[in-house]
Amino acid sequence: MIDIKKLVQKQLNYFLSNVTCDINYRLENLKRLRRAIQNHEKDICEALHKDLNKSDSEAFMTEIAIVMEELNLTIKRLKAWARPKRVNTGLLHMGSSGNLLYEPYGVALIISPWNYPFQLTLVPLIGAIAAGNCAIVKPSELSPSVSGVLAKLIKQNFSEEYICVVEGGIEVSSALLAEKFDYIFFTGSVHVGRIVMKAAAKNLTPVTLELGGKSPCIVHKDASLKLAAKRIAWGKFLNAGQTCVAPDYLLVHKAVKQKLMDYLVAYINEKFNYDLGEEFTRIINKKHFERLLAYLNNGRIITGGIHDENRLFLAPTIIDKVTWEDPIMQEEIFGPILPVLEYEDLDEVLEKIRKRPKPLALYVFSENKDMQRKITNGVSFGGGCINDTVYHIVTPFLPFGGVGESGIGSYHGEASFHTFSHKKSILKQTNLFDIPFRYPAPSNLKKLRLFLKIRKMLS
Ligand code: NAD
Repeated sequence: MIDIKKLVQKQLNYFLSNVTCDINYRLENLKRLRRAIQNHEKDICEALHKDLNKSDSEAFMTEIAIVMEELNLTIKRLKAWARPKRVNTGLLHMGSSGNLLYEPYGVALIISPWNYPFQLTLVPLIGAIAAGNCAIVKPSELSPSVSGVLAKLIKQNFSEEYICVVEGGIEVSSALLAEKFDYIFFTGSVHVGRIVMKAAAKNLTPVTLELGGKSPCIVHKDASLKLAAKRIAWGKFLNAGQTCVAPDYLLVHKAVKQKLMDYLVAYINEKFNYDLGEEFTRIINKKHFERLLAYLNNGRIITGGIHDENRLFLAPTIIDKVTWEDPIMQEEIFGPILPVLEYEDLDEVLEKIRKRPKPLALYVFSENKDMQRKITNGVSFGGGCINDTVYHIVTPFLPFGGVGESGIGSYHGEASFHTFSHKKSILKQTNLFDIPFRYPAPSNLKKLRLFLKIRKMLS
């Protein structure tokens, strides 16, 4: 195994040389990364196919294009984002100016999962580079082909004292977490998120935790049902449901349930009628496959349920007659199974969601603005969509992250730059005059009170 202690020290020395802080150096390296991805596009698609049976179109749309868009935006806007910002100081600070300076943390550790192994590794890395950090990247051992391509791509283009990919499983991850980093960015399960936060706490290292959970999808009786069915099926069955923000379960108003089910089944039959998974993303491994098969005993299968263990294929499946108490409603599903629960009283449903851990995403389908507002304002969740699913994470202009058990912090676009930057507040004082009230003396107190009174009257 690579000498991790030595590597971290090497990166720290490089960071302290100040080279990575130079804005032109950052831009040059972001452009280098962009070129490297363009040159390795074929290898990346092949690796995604090998690890997850992702089709080329899905690989491009949900992995490569997202990274390229982040890179293009960051390269275009970085100078503006990194410029110090002036802020108001208030009357008591007359003569002085308030400034925010963005500085890199230092050496960042990025740990990523297997489900979108390319983009969930590189999008945080873009933020780390943009903010001027060095970075050690630990991709998932469960998607070894993509991890291998990432390691090769980074090694060929960056010195290891600046950016380095360290491959391996829990032992490697644990060895990395035993070291002191200046920032830790983790994407993965809630369970491992707790381990990461505990390790970070030892050194008071700031963290971003991008975790998972059960994201509800609510379809109200006034929704545009045909379109809703299409967008729900797309978001749920993309990557065989192995998407952190996939609609985990469906809550549909009783009055429109049958119609929605008919549309969903028709759409699935039309779009996913593949020959036992030829082009459908596979389940990552046997353990997860078996975990998912156990859910098929919950409720009543409306469509799907077909599976092939040799190819780790599980067809898009919808299960009706599910209750809040069923095992499938206790944990994140992370697979192509959509349980359906019906409701009549929306308040009751919102109450139930509020009592559970805060979801990473929530989706609401309704034509009524009051209804949309009631749901989006009435529940705490990371982010989501009105009349769509998953699409909010595809734009680099909306920060993406969870809340409560679904995560801490956010990234994408400018938010990534902020995540990997410390905001240093600087007050620049004038020497032309000196406000006397601040110094302790009885007469100054009277003057200060009078000053504040006048200020209040004026405002
Ligand atoms: P995971 O937590 O098992 O693994 C993530 C990473 O942590 C991997 O690199 C792994 O090697 C490492 N790891 C695993 N066990 C560890 C341990 N004991 N100590 C230290 N490191 C350890 O997650 P996963 O199975 O790869 O991914 C699925 C989960 O990730 C789901 O819960 C999903 O919702 C979540 N996820 C969240 C997002 C998001 O952006 N919020 C994105 C994708 C996936």
